[in-house]
Amino acid sequence: MKETAQILREKGLKVTPQRIAVYNMLCNTTEHPNAEMIYKSLEPTNPTMSLATVYKTLDFFKQLGLVQELNVGEPSSRYDAVVQCHPHTVCKVCGRVDDLHMEALIDVTKKLVPDLDFDVEMEQLILYGTCGECRKK
Ligand code: ZN
Ligand code: MN
Repeated sequence: MKETAQILREKGLKVTPQRIAVYNMLCNTTEHPNAEMIYKSLEPTNPTMSLATVYKTLDFFKQLGLVQELNVGEPSSRYDAVVQCHPHTVCKVCGRVDDLHMEALIDVTKKLVPDLDFDVEMEQLILYGTCGECRKK
């Protein structure tokens, strides 16, 4: 795997410890955190980083295609370092957002409607329901 600093540099971004921290955090989580969650998780190791910096950094990353923004119907967006289109599940009880690992659902629009008179640039498939953990309760 490429070093984070190199990835940022190749995208033309100035490399700062805070940018590296945000990108690494996103690469190492499956939780699809929002800016607030990223800020909280990095606060102990990056006490000088502000929430505003996290927002700004995420915005840079999104514009450069380093992360994808995921709107699951909450007030704040979630972020995913996996930028290819892939389906998600959202638990309406605990709020967790997970990847849905089902090959058949990847690029489902392109597969099912090849002659659609429409250029699909992005699609977002989200299944809402109750996760396994919450169903056990
Ligand atoms: Zn749940
Ligand atoms: Mn994902």
